[in-house]
Amino acid sequence: MKQIVFGFLFFTSLVSFSQKLKKNDKLVIAAIQQHVQFLADDKLEGRRTGTNGEKLASEYIINQFKTNGLQPRGDKGTYIQEFEVNDGKTINPSTHLLINTEELKCEKDFFPMVYSACTSVEATVTPALQESNSPWFYDVKELMEENKNNPHFDLPAALYEKAGTLMKQGATALFVYNSTSTDDGIKYNKKDKSAALNIPVLYITNEARKKIMPDESSTYDIKIKVDISEKKRWGHNVVGFIDNGAATTVVLGAHYDHLGYGEDGNSRNTGTPAIHNGADDNASGTAALLELSKLIPGSKLKSNNYLFIAFSGEELGLYGSKHFTDNPTVDLKKVNYMVNMDMVGRLNDSSKITVGGYGTSPYWGELFSFVKDKNLTVKFDSSGTGPSDHTSFYRKDIPVLFFFTGTHSDYHKPSDDADKINYMGEFNVVKYIYKVIEETNTRGKLAFTKTREQQMVRSSFTVSLGIMPDYTYAGSGVRVDGVSEGKLAQRLGIKPGDVITQLGDIKFTDVTSYMQALGKFKKGDSSKVKLKRGTRELEFDVIF
Ligand SMILES: [Zn+2]
Repeated sequence: MKQIVFGFLFFTSLVSFSQKLKKNDKLVIAAIQQHVQFLADDKLEGRRTGTNGEKLASEYIINQFKTNGLQPRGDKGTYIQEFEVNDGKTINPSTHLLINTEELKCEKDFFPMVYSACTSVEATVTPALQESNSPWFYDVKELMEENKNNPHFDLPAALYEKAGTLMKQGATALFVYNSTSTDDGIKYNKKDKSAALNIPVLYITNEARKKIMPDESSTYDIKIKVDISEKKRWGHNVVGFIDNGAATTVVLGAHYDHLGYGEDGNSRNTGTPAIHNGADDNASGTAALLELSKLIPGSKLKSNNYLFIAFSGEELGLYGSKHFTDNPTVDLKKVNYMVNMDMVGRLNDSSKITVGGYGTSPYWGELFSFVKDKNLTVKFDSSGTGPSDHTSFYRKDIPVLFFFTGTHSDYHKPSDDADKINYMGEFNVVKYIYKVIEETNTRGKLAFTKTREQQMVRSSFTVSLGIMPDYTYAGSGVRVDGVSEGKLAQRLGIKPGDVITQLGDIKFTDVTSYMQALGKFKKGDSSKVKLKRGTRELEFDVIF
C-alpha cells in the first residue's frame, strides 16, 4: 500500500510537468501499477499455466471482474474456462536401473527413451555375447559412422528404427550408449509421440557404463524398471461479460500466464532457474484489460456487448485462445472484432507502439485516419497473425487489432520486472484503445479481410513451407493451422487440417522436430513432403 501511495505521488509530480491529467486519469495510472505489481510479484512465481501462481492471478482477475460488474462467461456459469495442456510423457520416480548392487541415477547416468516399454526386466547378462532373450547393448557409433556424409541424417529417428529391429532379433531390453566423444544429441524428448516398443530402451552415459561395467566379457546382474506416463495439466481462461443486449460483441483479450521458472523451455534466461515475473509480458496487457473492464461498463458504449478474456496457456503456443475459439462461450459469428494487448508496458522514449491487424478490416484504415494520440507514435502492421492470441480469432475470420509496445532486452527473462514498466506510457495506450472502441460504437458489424500471414516464431532455418503449425495438436506430426498466401504449401495444395509427417527421409513428431528438419534444407534443394489428410497419405515433390 505505502509503495502505491509513494508511486502515485511520484507520478503526479512527474506527469504534471508533461501531460495535464484529470483526477480520474491518475487513479487509472495508480490502478495499472497496482495490477502489474500484484501480478508480477514473486508470490505468483511467474504465473506458469497450471500452477498455483496462475491460480492466484486468476482469482485476482475474477475479483476485479466482479467488482466491475462483469458477468461470468466461462464454464458452467463461472468465470473460469478450463482447458487441458498435454505436457508430453514424464519419467516417474519409480524408474530405476540397478547393475549388480550399483543404483544408477535416472536422468544423470541414464534415462529411458520416451518410446521405451513401461515394464521391469531382471537378467544376468554378458554384454559382449548379445545372447538372445537377454538385454543387449548398442553403440550409436555405428549409426553415426554409417551416416557421417548424410546432411539430412536424423539420429534419434534412426535409433528408434534400430531399437525396433534389435527387439525383433531377440533383445529383451536395450542399452544405448555412445563410445565416441562426438555429441549424439540424444535427449529425453517428452513431446516425442513415437509408438512405444515392447522392450525397455535406456540410454546410458558412456561414463556410467565404463564405471559400472568396465569389462564387457564379465557377467552382470541387471534390474530395470521403466515408468513413464502422459503428464497433463490444466490451464484456466478467465472470462467476463458485459451484456448490453446488443447484436454484436467486441472481444478484449490479454494473456496473463507467463514462464514460471522457465520450465517449458521458452525462457531466454541462461543463468540459474529463477522466477520470470513477466511484468511487461503480460501483466501489463492484463492490467490494461482490467482497467478497460472498469471504464467500459459505466460508459455510453452500449451498441456492442463486451467480452473480456484473460487467456492462459499463451506462452505454450496460444493454448487458451485456441481452446476458447474452438469452444466459444459466445457465438463467434456475432463477434464484431477482437482487441489483443500483449506487452504494452514498455513504451520507449520514442513512444512507439505497433498496432497489428490493420489489414483485417477495411474499416481500420478509415478509423486510424482520425483516431490518434499525440503521446504515441503508431506503426501499423497489416497481418492478422503473429506470436499472440489475436491469431486464434483471425483464424476464425474475425477482424483483430494487436497492441504491442515492442520487445526489449528483458523479454522472457527473470528481469522483466514491475519497476521497468512505463505506467504513464501504458495509460496512454489504454486511452488510445478506449478511443478505438468508442469510435466503433456506432459502426455496426465490421467487415473482415484476409491478410498476409506473419511468421509465428523467429526461425533459424533458411527455407519454409509457409504453413502455420497448430501448437496445441497432441497427435504425431505437425497439424497445419493456416497456409501463407503464395507460399510453397499453398502452391502444392497443402490445406489447414493436413498433418505433415515427413520431409525427405526425416520423420518428425512435433513442431520442434519439424523446425529441426526444415533446418536441414537450403534454397534450391528438392525433396518430398509426406502428409496425412484424414486417413489418406499424400506425397508432394518440392523444390525449396
Ligand atoms: Zn506475451
